[in-house]
Amino acid sequence: MEISDMTIKKTRELLGKKEVSASELVSYYIANIEKENKDLNAYLSVFNDDALKQAKKIDERIEQGEEIGLLGGIPVAIKDNILVEGKIATAGSKILENYISAYDATVVSRLEAAGAIILGKTNLDEFAMGSSCEQSAFGPTKNPRDRTYVPGGSSGGSACAVAGDMAMAALGSDTGGSIRQPASFCGIVGLKPTYGRVSRFGLMAMASSLDQIGPMAKNVYDAALIFSVISGQDENDATTLPEGSFEMDDKIFSGDINGLKIGLPKEYFIEGLDDNVRGIIEKSVKDLEARGAVIKPVSLPHAANGLATYYLIMPAEVSANLARYDGIRYGYSVARENSPSQSSSGHSALRASDSMRPSVWDIFVESRSQGFGDEVRRRIILGTFALSSGYYDAYYHKAQLVRALIRQDFVDTFKNVDVLLTPTSPTLPFKLGDRMQDPLSMYLADVYTVSANLAGIPGISVNAGNVNGLPVGCQFLASFRREDLLFRVAHVYEQIVNN
Ligand code: GLN
Repeated sequence: MEISDMTIKKTRELLGKKEVSASELVSYYIANIEKENKDLNAYLSVFNDDALKQAKKIDERIEQGEEIGLLGGIPVAIKDNILVEGKIATAGSKILENYISAYDATVVSRLEAAGAIILGKTNLDEFAMGSSCEQSAFGPTKNPRDRTYVPGGSSGGSACAVAGDMAMAALGSDTGGSIRQPASFCGIVGLKPTYGRVSRFGLMAMASSLDQIGPMAKNVYDAALIFSVISGQDENDATTLPEGSFEMDDKIFSGDINGLKIGLPKEYFIEGLDDNVRGIIEKSVKDLEARGAVIKPVSLPHAANGLATYYLIMPAEVSANLARYDGIRYGYSVARENSPSQSSSGHSALRASDSMRPSVWDIFVESRSQGFGDEVRRRIILGTFALSSGYYDAYYHKAQLVRALIRQDFVDTFKNVDVLLTPTSPTLPFKLGDRMQDPLSMYLADVYTVSANLAGIPGISVNAGNVNGLPVGCQFLASFRREDLLFRVAHVYEQIVNN
């Protein structure tokens, strides 16, 4: 069997039988990265030596007949807004170009404890703000299915690494769709867990009430396996849920969805939905019905307000979270750039002379103006405005009230159905460059994904088919902590699609 066709489950089996070694796996992916990454730009950094060393250790343990852990020998990629101790973590921003992580994110230490091997860090829209992976300070990532298209975002590098055969699985983060939408655009599986099931310790905060880390993988089983490793309460993240850890159970993957109630929210099938996407998603409904699922039309009356609510709450939290990048505590600073010993840096605005040192205020303003890209600055300005006195009640407070209504819609609906089925994205992947001049059209890419973050419920995207070689994703949503239902239905669904 070719490594490119191997899932985590299969790989674990072959490692056990010594038909493949961890060193072979890592060498295979490193060779692919060396061949493809220049063009695809999925990785911002690659840890060749560490990964090979790690693989050797796993192989020795196999040789000794020792346990290697649930993910022993599995090469994975990590989004570059998640900390790996001793390694640079840029979050796709110039402001953190040289920032070295002081500790491991909880998800990273859990992956490593389970034997996973970290290949490197993947590209993203700056600070995870974007839907195309074009907002990175380090250049766009391309879609490996068709290199003239975007891979989606913001976890576009992770999606590209998995779909482009440069990692067996990856971690992404999802604040408004950043795991599910790139998974959809690249034809893989992406899970946004229930808020609080996965620790955010060591994730660079974008919007703290919405952020979750989750797996991106080749199939549903692999995504579930990774989720079982990274989920669970963490004393370093007070928002993690007690008893939040997910246990693998073969019953979930029995293939039985007989009687499972699937709701179709009518608000998700309206104008703006591409006809090709609609056609594929409608076929999904018929296929699942044929497997015994019960399809029910449902209504989420406040769904239409999801995007507007998200684009108030998210920037407000962004403006607060990104205040820490002040040119003094972290990363890029005009003060350092212009110190006499580095005077060749080219930034002349603040060239310090003894008589005219820049004020702290100047350092803040200039470091942030030069260090952040356009989209990040746009959101900081929007968020600061929404939180400013006199506007707080009209915008932020109102958005919080609508958020509660959106959440209540889901609570009510899940009394009648087990899961909801929707498209992941209203359109097919778009061409590189197409939406860069039009932020609103970029924001519209999130219209079906943001509500899950606002409500805190889990969602998964699985491939539903292709149009002219471009993948289309189907999204399933479930109630709080019901990832098991997502895996159950998505596992059946991917078998239908693959056959
Ligand atoms: N595309 C959305 C945004 O730009 C989602 C981002 C995310 O989930 N990190 O905000």
